[in-house]
Amino acid sequence: MGKKIRRAYKYRFYPTDEQRSSLAQTFGCVRFVYNWGLSTRKTAYVQHAESLTYNDLAALLPELKKHYPWLAEVSSVPLQQSLRHLDRAFVNFFEGRAHYPTFKKKQHDQSATYASNAFKWDGKVLILAKTKEPLDIHWHRPLPKDAKPSSVTISKDGANRYFVSILVEDDIQPLPVVNKMVGLDLGITSMVALSIGESVGNPHFFAKDEKRLAKAQRRHAKKKKGSKNREKACLKVAKIHARIADRRRDYQHQLSTRLVHENQVMCVESLAVKNMVQNHKLAKAIHDVGWGEFVRQLEYKSQWYGRTLIKIDQWYPSSKTCHACQHVLDSLTLDIREWVCPECGVLHDRDTNAALNILAEGLSVNACGDNVRPVRAKARQAVASEAGSSHS
Ligand SMILES: [Zn+2]
Repeated sequence: MGKKIRRAYKYRFYPTDEQRSSLAQTFGCVRFVYNWGLSTRKTAYVQHAESLTYNDLAALLPELKKHYPWLAEVSSVPLQQSLRHLDRAFVNFFEGRAHYPTFKKKQHDQSATYASNAFKWDGKVLILAKTKEPLDIHWHRPLPKDAKPSSVTISKDGANRYFVSILVEDDIQPLPVVNKMVGLDLGITSMVALSIGESVGNPHFFAKDEKRLAKAQRRHAKKKKGSKNREKACLKVAKIHARIADRRRDYQHQLSTRLVHENQVMCVESLAVKNMVQNHKLAKAIHDVGWGEFVRQLEYKSQWYGRTLIKIDQWYPSSKTCHACQHVLDSLTLDIREWVCPECGVLHDRDTNAALNILAEGLSVNACGDNVRPVRAKARQAVASEAGSSHS
């Protein structure tokens, strides 16, 4: 038997003039309601120490519409959904997963979510509330058979591209059990180093795009403010950004799918741990390869297919600990790619050794809960002295 999961299918679509203007209006109203909700919550808290909920704010919507009649010109569903998103943003903040919610700006990506009472889907075409024609969707892959979308989210990115993300219940078959395990480390010369000695993802993958981006950014900076040419140059920059983001996401999906297919257990360091890395250049590399997004993909794909992802939350000197004998080096600068353990004489590839340690650490944490195997405790003792240095 398969597993029922909720899954979003995202497609590009090409709006008609009518849809374009309807969506522009909806995006504006959604943004307005979100920002109003945020400032109302802030004020209630600061002035009356009161925490407003989604229900409190949704109950104020009719009153708000009386003040701003143009809000009534768009479907009310995306406006309510916008307050739900705000509520979610606060929950994420309170549970330590996100920063305090900020106001939405017109220049950023726009989106609006339609619950099932605000669109029509007949298995072939999708029509949004307050619009007449079906969306012209580019179906690069089909929706699951007999899919019943529970919501659709329309978005527009900085390159003026429109997307529809359709949330459906999907049936997933777990993969057959395999006996392989792998440790993953964010590499310096590669995107990810695997404990089996393989390095994947070349950081120069985006070098060409980045050159084009830098050139476009310089052009943009030279154009006169407020001019048509500057606007054009700005769109050019956004298009290159979008291309880089697309290629990166595709690449991450290929890699996470491959790893989940090949391995029963995967061990990684959490993003919180990765963020503790102080080295500036490396921090940029982490940002560039999108470690957080990559781990998120591994996480949900593991759940879908019956795999185990172990996240190591506690920082531990994975690079400078010898995997063979647990000896911990005093220091290991970033330029050193290979090293010989002074204790046992084993030659290590820097990234592979780190990935092997992450695998062993993940398995021991998983097996013992909070109890640490004595042999690994030696490495943990070094944490205090190493924290803050430019380790792995
Ligand atoms: Zn050693």
